[in-house]
Amino acid sequence: MQKGRFTVMNNRKNVYLFYKPDDELEKKVQEIRKIGRKHGYSLVEESKDADIIVSFGGDGQFLQAVRKTGFRDDALYVGVNDGRLGFYTDFDTTDLDKIENALKTENIEVLKYPTLEVEVDHLQAFKCLNELSVRSNIIKTFAIDVYIDDFHFETFRGDGMVVSTPTGSTSYNKSLNGAVVDPKLQAMQLTEIASLNNNQYRTLGSPLLLNHGRELTLKIVQDGNDHPIIAADNEALGIRHSHEIKVRVAEKPIKTLRMKDNLFFQKVKRSFL
Ligand code: NAP
Ligand code: MN
Repeated sequence: MQKGRFTVMNNRKNVYLFYKPDDELEKKVQEIRKIGRKHGYSLVEESKDADIIVSFGGDGQFLQAVRKTGFRDDALYVGVNDGRLGFYTDFDTTDLDKIENALKTENIEVLKYPTLEVEVDHLQAFKCLNELSVRSNIIKTFAIDVYIDDFHFETFRGDGMVVSTPTGSTSYNKSLNGAVVDPKLQAMQLTEIASLNNNQYRTLGSPLLLNHGRELTLKIVQDGNDHPIIAADNEALGIRHSHEIKVRVAEKPIKTLRMKDNLFFQKVKRSFL
């Protein structure tokens, strides 16, 4: 996670709130709005006018907030959870003091989280904050030719593959025995979902970590089962017929607040150890 500084916090006072309104949450959000107003922040109706985008909910909600607001690289994303802390949510509706302290800070330090840039069949382009996942939508296996920078690396057959970001490494990737990756590394990790490995099919079998600048190409072998589910974080693109998926680490990361207690490894420890 690289450090940076937003020196002109005074210009960053336009806040967009992303949440599913329900009565209980609404009350808590109102409390936080009051604190915000006291410190000169105002709410905007549209996320494009915001320089701070706040999501209320869990990590899944934070992923949606970033996606629905278009992975803004010129805004700060802040996750406020309800009752517990997550990987993207460093604030809690029950700890208003911490929120107020963050709002009072003049020079806010920012953290940068690498994202992925994905292109399907040279047409559809989108980003991922956790991971890209490609998986069979039926009980049969399907095959993927994996290329690294145009070099044919392996042919995978199984349930699917996941390409995760460093911050996504603690999610789906971890369930697939992928490594937890320090978000200071601008890298992407390829993991397998139940690969067939026998005398006919052979894959690496271990997670593969690739540096930024590399291009990973997943070519869906067109053998009948070639309509896998392609998903960006928690959103499926729908069942579609696709041939070629290109993935790289995006040039522009997203930014979030850097708080003393949101060291990545603190989160890893509080969640897993
Ligand atoms: P979900 O299926 O409701 O929840 C997945 C769980 O993962 C939730 O507890 C979520 O936290 C947590 N999570 C999300 N991002 C995380 C991260 N970067 N590090 C650690 N935990 C994380 O779906 P969702 O809440 O919309 O989250 C979508 C994510 O679920 C996908 O991006 C994928 O990574 C993951 N997923 C995992 C598996 C698996 O492990 N077998 C399968 C499919 C998807 P909150 O409760 O705070 O939302
Ligand atoms: Mn075809």
